[in-house]
This record gives sequence, C-alpha cells and structure tokens, in this order.
Amino acid sequence: MQIGEVQQPLSSLIRGDVLFGQSMREHTSWRIGGPADIMVLPACVDDIRTCVLFAREQGIPLTVMGNGSNMLVKDRGIRGIVLKISRGFNRIEIIGTTVSAEAGSLMPVVAVQAAEAGLSGLEFAAGIPASVGGAISMNAGAHGKSIGEVVRSAVILTQDGEIRSLDREEIGFAYRKSGIREKRVVVLNAVFALEPGNPAEIKMKNQTNLKKRRQSQPLEYPNAGSVFANPPGQWAGWLVDQVGAKGMRVGDALVSDKHANFIVNVGAASAADVLELVGQIRQMVFKKFNIELKLEIQVVGE
Ligand SMILES: Cc1cc2nc3c(=O)[nH]c(=O)nc-3n(C[C@H](O)[C@H](O)[C@H](O)COP(=O)(O)OP(=O)(O)OC[C@H]3O[C@@H](n4cnc5c(N)ncnc54)[C@H](O)[C@@H]3O)c2cc1C
Repeated sequence: MQIGEVQQPLSSLIRGDVLFGQSMREHTSWRIGGPADIMVLPACVDDIRTCVLFAREQGIPLTVMGNGSNMLVKDRGIRGIVLKISRGFNRIEIIGTTVSAEAGSLMPVVAVQAAEAGLSGLEFAAGIPASVGGAISMNAGAHGKSIGEVVRSAVILTQDGEIRSLDREEIGFAYRKSGIREKRVVVLNAVFALEPGNPAEIKMKNQTNLKKRRQSQPLEYPNAGSVFANPPGQWAGWLVDQVGAKGMRVGDALVSDKHANFIVNVGAASAADVLELVGQIRQMVFKKFNIELKLEIQVVGE
C-alpha cells in the first residue's frame, strides 16, 4: 500500500488522531525537522497495538517517539508512521513506595508527584524533559544517577501486539541506552521503586537540581540536551570545550558558550546545519585527542 492510500484505512481504525504532513519542528525540543508522512496520536493502548500491527502488515516504517527531546529529525522529514506516545498516556499512580507512570507522563511531573508523596529517588530526573517511555528507552540520567537504577519493571507492547511486563534486568539498561530500541518494543508504562523520605527535603533536592541546570545549560534556546555521549572516563563537553568549539556556528546551529555539549537553535537551524557542526566537532576532537565522539541524540528521518 502506498503511503497516500493509508490515510483512510488507518484513520478508520484509530480512535485517537491521525495527522498527515505534520512538521516535526512542532514535536521536537530542537524545533528542527521536516514533515512526518503520518503521525498517530493514540488515545488508548488498542490504538498503539493497531498502529504497530498495521505498520508491520503494510510494510510501513514505524518511528516511536515520546517528548521529542532527544531527536534530530532530518530536513526531508520522516517516511512512514510516527507513533507519538504523549497526551492521553499520562496517568501516574502511587502505591506505597512505588510510582507507576504511563509512558507519556513527563519525568519532571513524575518527580514532583513522588516528592509530594515523600518518595525519594527521582530527584535527578526533575529537570529531564523526557517522557517516561523516552527515559526508559534512553536510560536517561543526570547527577550520577540513571533511570535504570530506580525502575522495577516496565509494561511493553511487542511487534506482535502482545503486552508483556519486563523486569529491570530484561529491559537491559546500559549507559544512555536500553534494550527497548533493539527489541523494537513500545513502552506503555513503568514502575519506579523509590525510598520513603521527607517531602520538604526531596522537593528541595528537585529545586537544587533544577537550579544547577538553569545555571549550566542554555535552556533559553531550543536544544536536545547533550549532543555527544561521554566516552568512557571522559566528559564529552570538556573535550568539545578543549578544542575551542564553543561559539562555532553553522547557519543557525550554534555550539553553546554556556555548555559545550549543547548545540542550540538560535533561529531557523536545519538538521543539515547541526550535522555539519557535529562533523566539524568530531574531527577537531579526533585530531586533538584521538577520540571518536559518539552521538547521544537520535538522528531520524531523511
Ligand atoms: C534541555 C534538555 C536537557 C536534557 N537533559 C538530559 C539529562 O540530564 N540526561 C539525559 O539522559 N537526557 C537529557 N536530555 C535528553 C532527553 O531528554 C532524554 O534522552 C530523554 O530520555 C528523551 O525522552 P523523550 O520522551 O523526549 O524521547 P524522544 O526524544 O521522543 O525519543 C528518544 C528515543 O526514545 C524512544 N522512545 C520514546 N518513547 C518511547 C516509548 N514509549 N516506547 C519505546 N521507545 C520510545 C524513541 O524511539 C527514541 O529512540 C535533555 C534534553 C533536553 C532538551
């Protein structure tokens, strides 16, 4: 089936929204990216299952996304279907010392609710603009902690449309990644195992972490967090700083003066601008340190 013929059958199967030609600028924190052929905003788990099975049966590429805070979408956009797990999947439930959150819940919201309930363990995530699904997929982390350390289990939907619960070990957490992408499964929900604590102290830690971010990160411009992953035993930001890349600019993509591992969009940056800058930085770091920087951001589309 050609992509143009998909509109009617897919729309008739999905309770949520099926959008065509959505600019990915509207859906990514970098405000960069061409159009998605089709975007599905599911209203229920059945919509997610239908979308996954439809894409597989029709041989249409499927890209899963959450809050779009770690994605560089290329300028010609994304072919096939983008399944965006966000609104409608944000229920958070607290039972004893566990927090169960649907995949579209935002980590800062989960961290606030945990703090209000006197549960400690998610303070590090208070300023990470991730959805729960994206945080699990990327094993998001900060301040020396990462999601994998506090996740007890996650409910996922497989390529066959089957719903399963994976425990922490099965999710396969590693530095800024997990087995979610290789397994090509969709995260529906996660359960965090936290520790009881003093709500005021937990809230204070959340605030301290947010303040540190405001001081050290260029949050006034669209960005996608750290562009490069830290090589073992090194800080990518330090390496980029040492080669004098701060302030380098291609088009409207600029290496932040505040944090060398952030490339900010100071106007209408294209993905090509960012990738050109990334290439230049990589060469400079390789020349000086003989280290090949790897991307932390996910590059998608064409
Ligand atoms: C200002 C700023 C600060 C940041 N700080 C940090 C930080 O401190 N630490 C850190 O680790 N990251 C940080 N990031 C990067 C980003 O927030 C994380 O990588 C986050 O985990 C991405 O979540 P997301 O929901 O935005 O995922 P997206 O960007 O939408 O997707 C990222 C990946 O997750 C997959 N994915 C998303 N949802 C699902 C799902 N439901 N099921 C299966 N796969 C899914 C996608 O397919 C994709 O491969 C920062 C970003 C910004 C803009």
